[in-house]
Amino acid sequence: MDAKTKIYLPVVFRNFQGFETIDIKEFQTKLEMEIILEPIKDKEHYCTVCDSKLGAQDGGYWVRARHMRMMNWSVFVTFRREKRHCPKCNKIRSEKIDFISDATPHVTKDLAWWINRLTEMTSVLAVSRLESLDKQTCYNVDKDILTKLLQGYKIPEVTRISVDEVYSRGKKQQKEGETRDDLFLTVITDIKTHKVIWVSHSRRKEGLDEFFMIIGKAACERIEVVATDQHEGYGASVREHCPKATLVWDRFHLVQKFNDALNEDRKVELDRIDPKGPMGDLMNGKYRFIFMSRAYKRSETDKKHIDEVMKLNEKIAKMEILKEKFHSMFNCSSVETAKDVMSEIYQWAFEARARNIFKWLTTIRKKQNFWNYWIYKVTTGISEGINRVIKGLKWQAFGYKDMNYFKLKILQKAGYLNSKYNPLTV
Ligand SMILES: [Zn+2]
Repeated sequence: MDAKTKIYLPVVFRNFQGFETIDIKEFQTKLEMEIILEPIKDKEHYCTVCDSKLGAQDGGYWVRARHMRMMNWSVFVTFRREKRHCPKCNKIRSEKIDFISDATPHVTKDLAWWINRLTEMTSVLAVSRLESLDKQTCYNVDKDILTKLLQGYKIPEVTRISVDEVYSRGKKQQKEGETRDDLFLTVITDIKTHKVIWVSHSRRKEGLDEFFMIIGKAACERIEVVATDQHEGYGASVREHCPKATLVWDRFHLVQKFNDALNEDRKVELDRIDPKGPMGDLMNGKYRFIFMSRAYKRSETDKKHIDEVMKLNEKIAKMEILKEKFHSMFNCSSVETAKDVMSEIYQWAFEARARNIFKWLTTIRKKQNFWNYWIYKVTTGISEGINRVIKGLKWQAFGYKDMNYFKLKILQKAGYLNSKYNPLTV
């Protein structure tokens, strides 16, 4: 008998463009499988760099690439990659292999796709452990796919956005010629959908300008509301690009500023207290932190402690009431009622001689951007959820050194650069 009987070969083992499967080796103890490929007859060869048809062969090398796991076996693909003369590059080039990742020759496109899908669910480090792959390889593959997604990404139409600065890397990573502003990213969120729609470098005016320039003049004119912190650069950018937009200062940042002023006044008062007097014992060490928290978050013991302090010190007591009042102001349903509450707070701050709070209130109550909150009711810029995602990303990557990658990851996990929003392509 001359010809051997052909055995059926599952499709998954013979789906390598330009090649045919000539053998499959199993290594049972290691749970490994190796697919051996041979080029098809009359295979055409194209340049990896410029895509032109290659000329005469000039050597080659063996490649062993990781493929997607099958039935819990690790799978490798082994083939010979030819080197040929490229007439366009006028150089010897490796041939293009369709089923190999553009980011690394050691991973197939199928596995690259799977790595990217997994990184939507967990960290790159976890994926590299799960798939027993080198961390850098996973990172390269993920970045490559996200970069391609970004190229096809179109910023959705928006009318209300929030603009936030995110501290993204430490001082140690500050490069020459950079300022503190470069350590931040500008994150733009659609208030309606709570999705991050763009991320740009630095927290300078240019960071936000970039976004407005990408979406274009017509889209800028459709923007009605922009919620930001009191950062001057962002305000200037909005005034320049969005003729119809109202600037609203973000509630979250305002509360933070108020708390800063309050803590200053509290510190002044605490420093005045004689540590040997009746108040001294009550205001030491850990008790200071009780005052930083909101009333409803305190435990019973903490409440008792504060009551005692307030009996002894009227000013501290007044500042407590001020804080609660200030927070409650944000629950007002109209500008008018908010203004009434503000007058009260302002008066009390004056009477309590809380200098820092009084000074801060004096400037803030004159600003329309502040009152706009009660007209548009746009809440905290970056929602808690997005903030958590960004913090998680930073922690997972032990602080991103590659800022472009960090930007892509934010858009992947809190925006639209993921499989949920992108149609499948073959
Ligand atoms: Zn070429």
